[in-house]
Formats: sequence, structure tokens, C-alpha cells
Amino acid sequence: MRSIAIVGANLAGGRAVEALRQAGFDGRITLIGEEPWRPYERPPLSKEVLWDPANVPDNFFLQDEAWYDDNRIDMRLGTRAEAIDLAGGGVRLPGGELVQADRILLATGGHARKLNLAGSDCANVHYLRTRDDATRMALDLREGASIVIVGMGVIGAEVAASAVKLGCKVTVVEPMPVPMERALGRRFGQWLGEEHRKRGVATHFNCGVTGFRFAGTVSARSRRTMAP
Ligand SMILES: Cc1cc2nc3c(=O)[nH]c(=O)nc-3n(C[C@H](O)[C@H](O)[C@H](O)COP(=O)(O)OP(=O)(O)OC[C@H]3O[C@@H](n4cnc5c(N)ncnc54)[C@H](O)[C@@H]3O)c2cc1C
Repeated sequence: MRSIAIVGANLAGGRAVEALRQAGFDGRITLIGEEPWRPYERPPLSKEVLWDPANVPDNFFLQDEAWYDDNRIDMRLGTRAEAIDLAGGGVRLPGGELVQADRILLATGGHARKLNLAGSDCANVHYLRTRDDATRMALDLREGASIVIVGMGVIGAEVAASAVKLGCKVTVVEPMPVPMERALGRRFGQWLGEEHRKRGVATHFNCGVTGFRFAGTVSARSRRTMAP
């Protein structure tokens, strides 16, 4: 094997690149990532990046930029792989360029599940998966803003805590009777809900969402805050 193309430049893709070089693979490695950033850690997206999107924490990125140069990684960031071209022997990029490779690793990860509900395409409805999502969301987490969080899994709970820290009025809607019941049991879920209520979060458990209506104020950026 002389060349490998990795599609998806986040944790799995980034660690695969490192492992290949550590294992002595000396051939051509192309790392293709739709996001514009080199591989980074997502856990800070619900915490530090919301608090201060301009200053990501130390160790946010898996490696500094020089590491990829030093290790001769052909970085194709901000580039969506369009197709695997088996006849051509590689990965097709937008515009038709073919990245030739003896092996292709798909490390394309997951997506936030979109809610197909009335109002869910408004600018102030956010999904949190990427650094850019977190940066956009942070603009709306202003002191005094009313924020509704749909879903209180780990990420919803962390965003609720971050929004409280930033001075927002936070309401959580969760379809299960207590948060994270399936993963961690009812007792833990009750405790978690109580801890959030103690910090001022309004909780609506056992409660689904059927749509979004906005009655908030228009901000300077022409975005409306979401009133619970
Ligand atoms: C806010 C948040 C907090 C989290 N906190 C934790 C935590 O505390 N602990 C924990 O264990 N896990 C946590 N996770 C989950 C963890 O981040 C994921 O398990 C991890 O990101 C998975 O890495 P991955 O590389 O497999 O996939 P992903 O991170 O999804 O990366 C896949 C990449 O592939 C790219 N891609 C997809 N299709 C294409 C294409 N056609 N062409 C080019 N690129 C493409 C995507 O843009 C993406 O950048 C958290 C996730 C989020 C969103």
C-alpha cells in the first residue's frame, strides 16, 4: 500500500493519521474533511467554546498545524468528498478532482438528528455538533436571553449549565420522565434534574416538542430570542 485517503477529519480521522505514521507508514496520506478545521475535540463545544468562542482551550486541536506539515499529511479541509470512485481508484472531490488512493478509510462520524417541526428552520434554532455550530450558538447565549433546550442528554445538560453560567434564563424540555434515564437510570436522572432546578433551570420532563413559535425580541443582528 502506497497511499491512503481518509474521509472525515475529526477524532477518528485525526487519530488514524497519527496511528499510521506512528506505525511507520511512510506513504501518501490525504485527509479530507468537510469542516474547515483540522481535527479537534468536540467535548469543549458545549462548555468552553460556548463561554468564549474566540479562545478555544489548550489541547482543543489534536495536533498543531506544524505536525501535519512535518508528517507530510495532504490536508484537504473545507472539502466534502463527493464520491468514492472505484473505477478511478480514489475519492472524488467537488469540481471533479480525484484523490487517488490504494486504500480509503471512511471516518465520517455522526450528525445531530434534525427535528422536522414547524419553525425548526429559524435562524435562532441551533443544533450542536461542530465548532461552527457552537460559535453561532454562543452569539445567542447572552445575559438575560431566554433559551429553550430540547433534549437533556449529556450535551443538553452541559449546554443548560453553560447557558446558566452565561446568565441566560434556561428551560429544558425532555420527553423522558427524567433526563438520561435509559443510560443511567431513574435515580441519577432525578438527581440531575434536581441539580439543574437548584441552579434556576425550568424543567419540563415527560414532555415532547411539537413545533417552535417565536415571540422574542429582535436583536441587533436581526435574530429573535426564543421565549419559553
Ligand atoms: C458537543 C459535544 C460534546 C461531546 N462530548 C463528548 C464527551 O465528553 N465524551 C465523549 O466520549 N464523546 C463526546 N462527544 C462525542 C464525540 O465527540 C464523538 O464521539 C466524536 O466526535 C466521534 O468522532 P468521529 O471522528 O468518529 O466523528 P465526527 O466527530 O462526527 O467527525 C466526522 C467528520 O467527518 C466529516 N465528514 C462527514 N462526511 C464527510 C464527507 N463526505 N467529506 C468530508 N468530510 C466528511 C464531518 O464533517 C466531521 O467533521 C461529544 C459530541 C458533541 C457534539
